This record gives sequence, C-alpha cells and structure tokens, in this order.
Amino acid sequence: MTNYPHLFEPIRVGHLTLSNRILMGSMHTGLEDKDRFERLAVFLGSRAEGGCQLMVTGGFSPNAEGRLRNGAAVFDDKSQIVEHRRVTGAVHAGGGHVLLQVLHSGRYGNHADNVGPSPIQAPINRHTPREMTSDDIVATIDAYGNTAKLAKEAGYDGIEVMGSEGYLLTEFLAPRTNRREDEWGGSSENRMRLPLEVVHRTRAEVGDDFVIMFRLSVLDLVDNAQPADEALVFARELEAAGYDIINSGIGWHEAPIPTIAQAVPRAAFVADTLRIKDAVDIPVVVSNRLNTPEVAESVLAQGFGDMVSLARPFLADADFVAKAKAGAAAAINTCIACNQACLDNYFVGKVASCLVNPRACFETEITWGPADETKRIAVVGAGPAGLAAADVLARRGHDVTLIEAADRIGGQLNLARRIPGKNEFDETLRYFRYHLDEGGVEMRLGVRAEADKLIEARYDDVVLASGVTPRRPDLAGLDGENLSNYADVLSGNVEVGMRVVIIGGGGIAFDVALYLLESGDASFTEPEAFRAHWVDTDGGPLESRHAITMVQRSDGPMGRSLGKTTGWIHRATLKRHGVKQICGATYEKISADGLHITLDSEPRLLEADTVILCAGQEPLFDLEAPLIDAGINVHRIGGATEAIGLDAERAIREGMKLAARL
Ligand code: FAD
Ligand code: NAP
Ligand code: SF4
Repeated sequence: MTNYPHLFEPIRVGHLTLSNRILMGSMHTGLEDKDRFERLAVFLGSRAEGGCQLMVTGGFSPNAEGRLRNGAAVFDDKSQIVEHRRVTGAVHAGGGHVLLQVLHSGRYGNHADNVGPSPIQAPINRHTPREMTSDDIVATIDAYGNTAKLAKEAGYDGIEVMGSEGYLLTEFLAPRTNRREDEWGGSSENRMRLPLEVVHRTRAEVGDDFVIMFRLSVLDLVDNAQPADEALVFARELEAAGYDIINSGIGWHEAPIPTIAQAVPRAAFVADTLRIKDAVDIPVVVSNRLNTPEVAESVLAQGFGDMVSLARPFLADADFVAKAKAGAAAAINTCIACNQACLDNYFVGKVASCLVNPRACFETEITWGPADETKRIAVVGAGPAGLAAADVLARRGHDVTLIEAADRIGGQLNLARRIPGKNEFDETLRYFRYHLDEGGVEMRLGVRAEADKLIEARYDDVVLASGVTPRRPDLAGLDGENLSNYADVLSGNVEVGMRVVIIGGGGIAFDVALYLLESGDASFTEPEAFRAHWVDTDGGPLESRHAITMVQRSDGPMGRSLGKTTGWIHRATLKRHGVKQICGATYEKISADGLHITLDSEPRLLEADTVILCAGQEPLFDLEAPLIDAGINVHRIGGATEAIGLDAERAIREGMKLAARL
C-alpha cells in the first residue's frame, strides 16, 4: 500500500503503460550540447533506475536555425543516432521511457540567424528574427518530421513538441508575435496551423507506436498572447490532430512574472491546467513548483491533471520516485527552487547541476565507494558544508562525530530560512537530519569544539566546517545602540525601527530588505495572493513597513551578485517598496541620527532609526593552527576556507567532494 495512491496509479500514454504518473520534465542541462552524451546517458539512466518511468530530454532543435544559441544541440542527421542510442539504451536499461524534446527556439534563438513568424525582436534577445517565408515554414515542418524519425530510430519512445514559453510554435499562436497575413497568420485557425501540421507530418513519419506530446502554454503571462478561449479550442484541435498527451507550460520567458522561483508558492498554477484537462480526453500534465510527493499527490487527488511534471526535483534527487514509492519521503533531497546551480549555471554556459545535490549532471565525476580504511573523523560545524561532509563520510563507512556550537544543525541556513521563500531550506535540513541519523553520525549539538579536546580525542582527521562570522567594518560609531547586523536582525534579537539604512548591497543585504518588507506575506505561500502580487497588478507601489536605504561603496548597479534568473525578482520587489539604493559612497561614521557618508564629494546624512551591517563576512578557522601543530590531519571546507564567493552551493559541493576522497 503506497502513501500516494494517485501518484502510483498506472496510466496509459499513447502506446506506453506507465506504473506511475510522475513525468520528469525537460531541462536544458548543457549535457545535450557538445559531446557529453555519455554523461547525459548516466544522468538520465540513473533517474530511470530511481523509478522514473517517463522522462523528457533537454531541447534538441530540428534544424540549425532553431538552435537555442551557438553550439546548442540540434538533431537533424543520421550520423547523430549512435550517440542518442547511448541515452535511450541507458534509460531503457534502467526501466524507464524517454521522449526527445524537439525545440525550435524561434525568436529566442540567441544567434544572428534566428527566425520567427514576424520580424519582431524579443525583449530578452538582442537579435531580431528574420521573418520566415512560406517555404521556410514548410521546411521547418519537414524538419520536425525528420527529427522525430531520427528519434524513433535512436530508440526514443516519443517526442515532446515544445509549444510553450514563447518559443517558435507559441510565437505563431500569438498575435503578439505573429503579424502575418498569409495562411500562417491572422485568424485563429491560421495561427494554430503550424503546430497541427507538425503532428500530421510527424505522425506520418513515425506511426502510432510513438508518443507525441505537446507542451502547451496554459498561461502566457504576456499581453496579446493566444486568447484564453482560443487555447481551449486549440487543445481540442491538438487532440484531434494526433497528439497523445498535453504537458503544461507556464509563462513566456520574457514575462516579468516569476514562474518557478522561490517567490512562487508550491503548485501555484495548477488551476490553469485544469481548464485544459476539462477540454480534452487525452492525458494532461500539471507542472511548476511541484517539489514533494505530498504536493504532487494532492494535485492529482484534486483532479487538476492526469500526471505531474517534476523537473528540477530530479536534479535534486535521482531516486525521488523510488523513495516516494517506498514511503521514505523524508529521505528525498528536495528541490528548493533557488535556480542557483541549475538555470543560473546553464545561462552562463556551464553545465547545470544542483545546489543540494552537486552530483547532478556530474555523476561520472563525483563518485565514492566504501572507504578503504575506516577512520574516526570529527566534523566541526553543522552548516551546509559540515552536513554534506558528515553525510558522505558516514555513507562511506567512517566513524563520524559532528560537533555544532548551536543547538541545531544548519549554520547560516537557519538565517536564510527566515527570508520569504527561503523556508524551502527547511527541506534541506530535514534531508540531512534523516541521513545523518541513518548513517549513525554521532551528533553533538550545543557543543563548541575546542582544540585541546579534539587533540585529546585523537581523531584521525578533523574537518573544519566552522563557517563565517559577519564582518565588522572599520568605521566610527559601531558601538551605537542603533547599530545591528544581519544575523541579529534575522534571529529576531533586535527591534528594527521605521527608517532603516542597510550597509552593503550583496545577496544578504537584499535578503534582509526583503525580510523587513515582506516576511509573512501570503504571496509566497498562497496562489491567490501570489496572483494579486504579481499577475493582477499594475506593478505600482506596495505598502511598506519600513523606509529602507541600501548603500555600498562600489559603483552600481546594486545586486550584481544576485542570481541571473532570480535577481530581477528581488530588484522588482524592492523597487515597488520604494527602497533607495546608493552606490559609490564613502562611509564616515554612524551616529544616533544615522549613517554619515560622502557622496560625489558632498557630506550626507542618511537618517535612520536602525543601521544594519550586511558588509560581508570573515572565515572562521582558528582551530586549524593548534590542530596542525598537534599533528592532526585538518581539512577546511565551506566558509572556513574562504568567505568571498561563498554560498550554500559551494559549501555543499566542497563538503561532498572532500568526503568522497577521505
Ligand atoms: P556556516 O553556515 O556558517 O556554518 C558553520 C557552522 O559552524 C555554524 O553552525 C557554527 O555555529 C559552527 N561552528 C563554528 N565554530 C564552531 C566550533 N568551534 N564548534 C562547533 N561549531 C562551530 N546561500 C545560498 O547558496 N543561497 C541562498 O539563497 C542563501 N541565502 C542566504 C541568506 C542569508 C540571510 C544568509 C545569512 C546566508 C545565505 N546564504 C545563501 C549563504 C549560505 O547560508 C552560506 O554560504 C553557508 O551557510 C555557508 O556554509 P558553511 O557550512 O561553510 O558555514
Ligand atoms: P556579498 O554579496 O559579497 O556582499 C557583501 C557586501 O558587503 C557588498 O555589498 C560590499 O559592498 C560590502 N562590503 C564588503 N566589505 C565591506 C567593508 N569592509 N565595509 C563595508 N562594506 C563592505 O556577500 P553577502 O551579501 O554577505 O553574502 C554572502 C554570500 O551569501 C554571498 O556569496 C552570496 O552569494 C550568498 N548569498 C546568496 C544569496 C542568493 O540568493 N543566492 C542570498 C544571500 C546570500 P562594497 O564593498 O561595495 O561596499
Ligand atoms: Fe532545485 Fe536549486 Fe537544485 Fe536548481 S539548484 S534543482 S532550483 S535545488
């Protein structure tokens, strides 16, 4: 008997019978591009071994014009079949099925020869598309058919035709991007023609024993997109034309509304899929911000769709399905929707991975087995670095003691979790707690490790994961009663006045501003409140509890260190709250009136009831020298190594990698 009866109810999709209803949605990982098929095969194969029955690859373009960017994956030639067979072979050997995503990027193609229905530049692309001729369109339909045929020969079980998020097919559907006056534009019938012709052509190439899924934009979040009532007609047309299943896409990439970030409540968009489900008889898949088996089960139990699509959760944990099936949800490493190591990496040309699981897409590079020799190892500090190290050391059979000065695990994550949206870090701590317990790690909470005691205990190795401490800059007035730092504010140890000056413009400064302005805001947890905050709004000013000024010494703009795919969300929110940002300041002193600075050679007072230091941090590794002197093997990881550029991603990766080789 499973805890999740709806998730584990078999379903028929085209010619396939699946034993569960969890689809691993498409993700561009960067393994599709260049020659990384061996790694892609291991990445997807391990998800199949972990119980995933149906998955979709990252996007492969049907022709060169449709590529996402220079060097991005195209599948248009027979010679590529042999590489793809490695992928399909690995998935089938693991017991799963795999669809190739066919993605024509249209005007989003980040290259000079991109194309679109009309020559209208996307706001997120510097290249204006060339308008496709009728011949181009016919050739593109042929290209979809060709890629589908190649996919079948390569052993794929089907394809997903990418028709959402603002890529080529969506562009044809929307008056916003389609101004054509021929048979491919104008009337709704004409705008729908291309995706329907794609399935006609494809079906003719591949026959019936091949799944063809359409990813439909169930919510566009941009003006002048396909009208909502037309989308229902379109869904029925897709079914009639021969698509086997419809997947949901939410929002065009150019939409100024978050769709998968931490600002989005879990399961925020399921109601948008329900409209489509009610319109057709083929299976419909629900997606976006479904990250635990409980949430996914509830979505299916309430009838919002026939299947659920989880993508990033499969980066976080290859065994999501198997663990859910075994009733071991507490063992699942949960995606926290940070985008830091997946999307943010991909968008700067790196291979995607995962903050909470650095092995994702690096399965062949970060490996470990049982330790050759069991050692007694002390790990000092239970922040993310120490937790990751202790976890892997224990899995390898070492005798591990984890010593933490605070009365709980988590280190700085206990501060991070107070920021609106970042309470997802609770899942990370739950995951570590579960596995440290399973691994028999001896936990000493509320104990400050001291050098003499560590020496006396004669550990074979000591891992210093003692992290960082907030920096106190060299500035007059630091002893004033109106001065505080981020750690005290977030711990609730100080009362923050109405007028606030934040010293610093990095990630923590933005987070503290967000905490002061939006903690407790229902938009992070309730879909209706999210809509009011982000969708049904004119984007005008929001009511604020504090008048905040952020200030930094370096030139602007502020927040350059924020994530590529999420920084704009924080910037937009603070702007609506009227937060002032001053860059290029020289600090003079702090007084009871506030912060005195020089700006453009002029003295200025930034009046404040509370001044909050968010001025970076310093590494803590004072135990290292005495331990080395005593001849103990000491290893530093995370913040204890270097505070600059530190984040939880680096901390976990360093902890895991060290533990894999000790
Ligand atoms: P720490 O988290 O500092 O942990 C060190 C631990 O060692 C502490 O628990 C400390 O008590 C313990 N310790 C120290 N000395 C001793 C001793 N002698 N004996 C016993 N125990 C000791 N990062 C991200 O990647 N994404 C985010 O969204 C993000 N948001 C953040 C938001 C805020 C508000 C803050 C403050 C940080 C955020 N970070 C974020 C940063 C992230 O939390 C840190 O980079 C990470 O926690 C560093 O991990 P660490 O294990 O090296 O050190
Ligand atoms: P940070 O991003 O490096 O910012 C530090 C800030 O302190 C800068 O604005 C800097 O501005 C200022 N500063 C540095 N030295 C100073 C000094 N001596 N006196 C006064 N000001 C000084 O670091 P952070 O905000 O402390 O964040 C720590 C880490 O956590 C970062 O690596 C960050 O990536 C991570 N984090 C990530 C997120 C996320 O959402 N991904 C959120 C929070 C934190 P000037 O030097 O210009 O004055
Ligand atoms: Fe999820 Fe963050 Fe991992 Fe991306 S990096 S998969 S958002 S936890």
